[in-house]
Amino acid sequence: MHNLPFTLPACDQPATARIEVYSTTPTGESLDAAVYACTNQHVADAMAAIRLAGFTAHRTPLDVDVQRRCGAVHVFPTGRLAHTGHPAWCDRQDCAGRLEHRSPALPANPSGGELVDVRVALVQLTAAPTVTLIEVTFTDTPTDVVVRVLPLGQAVSLAYRVLELNDVAKGRQR
Ligand SMILES: [Zn+2]
Ligand SMILES: [Zn+2]
Repeated sequence: MHNLPFTLPACDQPATARIEVYSTTPTGESLDAAVYACTNQHVADAMAAIRLAGFTAHRTPLDVDVQRRCGAVHVFPTGRLAHTGHPAWCDRQDCAGRLEHRSPALPANPSGGELVDVRVALVQLTAAPTVTLIEVTFTDTPTDVVVRVLPLGQAVSLAYRVLELNDVAKGRQR
């Protein structure tokens, strides 16, 4: 059984569609899995679940000589869903050497003209793979870089507080 980051419909009816699951890697697209589904509804449900988990989903017709059940999954051993010891979001750049799994850093600079460059990334220490952290990097000048690491739950709480303050700043009723 594969430990997939998304839950698929699994009604076991004969599949009518094949869905290719891709992820984006620093070097391009990675074909990670083929997922099978029966009705249009289950195809749509499966594609929504795959996209919600951060993957790209492409529907392809099922070859006439292929028989699969709704919910069946083929995980490609070369892809990012294979059991490689990395979280699905990891960029896989020398995790053993840097002692941590890291996601690509996402910029939080909406206008592009901010005085401080802010980026956020997921981090997991290879020694503590059950704890996922958010790393926030503030770059003021090339020599003035501040890195803060928060537990993911606290970072989410922070995000909600910022949204609340945004509402307050705009004078909205809550
Ligand atoms: Zn189905
Ligand atoms: Zn890794």
